[in-house]
Amino acid sequence: MTTIADKLQQVHERIAQASARAGRNVADIALLAVSKTCSPDAVRQAHAAGQCAFGENYVQEGVEKIAALRDLALQWHCIGPIQSNKTRLVAENFDWVHTIDRLKIAERLSAQRPPDKAPLNVCIQVNVDGGTAKSGVAPADALALAREVAQLPRVRLRGVMSIPEPASDFESALSVHQKVRGVFDEIRHAGLPLDTLSIGMSADLEAAIAAGSTMVRVGTAIFGARNKT
Ligand SMILES: *Cc1c(COP(=O)(O)O)cnc(C)c1O
Repeated sequence: MTTIADKLQQVHERIAQASARAGRNVADIALLAVSKTCSPDAVRQAHAAGQCAFGENYVQEGVEKIAALRDLALQWHCIGPIQSNKTRLVAENFDWVHTIDRLKIAERLSAQRPPDKAPLNVCIQVNVDGGTAKSGVAPADALALAREVAQLPRVRLRGVMSIPEPASDFESALSVHQKVRGVFDEIRHAGLPLDTLSIGMSADLEAAIAAGSTMVRVGTAIFGARNKT
């Protein structure tokens, strides 16, 4: 049987190979283990194998897992859509939010971040390939949103995130990821000190690393296929 530790090792090897091919330093690419639908025990196994950063999509599920794993020093990233009535739970429990696509949500998170915690790390979610139904801000609106979010006292703007549609091959994945990279560069050139480009998942992390990803979000390749809900 392939264990979670084995699969984590395989993902680290993929990241190392992709960064070597891109002429990048492997230390510049963080691995976020996406543990949505996984049991707390699976997270424990990943942690025992050295993994400390985990991503959750569903706020309620994430909050329960965070509570069940309080004894471990883990970093928790919210990578799913956030409704207004869930911002308090997110502000109180998570360390990062990748899915800021409206100022209102960022304002609530800032206002509700407990004073004893460090500012909440946030990324602007950009929609580079989808229709209006998809979450994420249009590339043309990302800089304006980033400027406003950067003013908020209790969040810290760290970067840009995107969830492109699955691509059929490396070149098309690369070209979509490069659009996200373009938005990231635009915001940096405007003077906001971003350090995080959150792109790449199990199927396309090589293309994302070639495009400049600094954080890949990997679920299936670590924890196995999820049961469809
Ligand atoms: C589920 C999910 C991932 C991980 O996807 P895999 O294909 O399982 O690696 C990454 N990012 C987000 C936002 C997700 O919802």
